[in-house]
Amino acid sequence: MSAKLAQSADILTIGGTGFRRGDRGVVRLPIGSLIDHQTLEMPVHVFRGRRTGPCMVVCAAVHGDEINGIEIIRQLINHSALKRLRGDLLAVPVVNVPAFLSRSRYLPDRRDLNRLFPGSTKGSLGARLAKVFVDEVLAHAAMGIDLHTGAVYRPNLPQIRFSPEAPGARELALAFRPPVVIESEARSGTLREWMHRHDKPMLTFEGGEALRLDIHVVRSGLLGVVNAMRSVGMLPEKGSSQQEKPMRVVFTDETSWVRAPQGGILRPGVKLGQAVAEGMEIGRVGDPFGPGGHSVVSSTAGVVIGMTTQTVVDEGDGLFHIAMAKNPEQAERRIKMHQADAIIDEPVDDDPLTD
Ligand SMILES: [Zn+2]
Repeated sequence: MSAKLAQSADILTIGGTGFRRGDRGVVRLPIGSLIDHQTLEMPVHVFRGRRTGPCMVVCAAVHGDEINGIEIIRQLINHSALKRLRGDLLAVPVVNVPAFLSRSRYLPDRRDLNRLFPGSTKGSLGARLAKVFVDEVLAHAAMGIDLHTGAVYRPNLPQIRFSPEAPGARELALAFRPPVVIESEARSGTLREWMHRHDKPMLTFEGGEALRLDIHVVRSGLLGVVNAMRSVGMLPEKGSSQQEKPMRVVFTDETSWVRAPQGGILRPGVKLGQAVAEGMEIGRVGDPFGPGGHSVVSSTAGVVIGMTTQTVVDEGDGLFHIAMAKNPEQAERRIKMHQADAIIDEPVDDDPLTD
């Protein structure tokens, strides 16, 4: 990909601080102030390899209640492999600092930061924050990975979304080697859309749900980021004793929600990662005041990549997010193999799984 050829600058200046090749440090970007009159800061971890290579941004908590990505970045910046980094890594654990402080997906004025890019110096707090992030971080990066989760009570299976028109994005998405890759256009005002308009591949990782830490999702995301960095030459390839496993990605360009046919009490019949057939009953919604109930039927064949964990649902609520797959059983097998790999592969220094 073209970004692969980009070479690191002699001096990389972020927030007025210059970093030479081989330097590491943290820059605290001022992003405005809240009701306490204090200046908010967005910490940016800067890792510059001694040898040249691409510049990648890895960021999380663009939605302030999405925690898994914060932990993925914490483990990434502790990762011993960064000693052999080529090029530059810009790691931003919490982009939407004001939303994170209030444990909220949204900014204090209830806007969605991921609709405000590229932002503006004269706009709302979120628009100003977006502008700082674009100018000081995204502008330096040749590619990136934006880490998200599902909403509260809506866990997602680990998955990568990429925009088909972005050069190099498909290759980077497959190199991440997640269980599921979804080709989808980026919405207007998102960070991913800004990157693509500048011909920079950007992946959106989704895994788990808001306000919960899922160590399996964290492991899957960390492995993916490391895989992607390897694929563009930022980290060394695995040694010959650790042969790459065959590609087990489920690839799709079409997903759909199965919605509640009736309000009531949901009894799900499937789990994340499970195969479903067209016409299959995948849950029931019972009448809380009487003996009746309604079947929830999948209108397509595929695998479950997101679902609600809410028990009480209104008519029309999204219950199961299905990624369409021609061979759902094979897709389910691939997802299971990936989940097994994510648990045993690649130990991390302070990972609770390796204690
Ligand atoms: Zn999000």
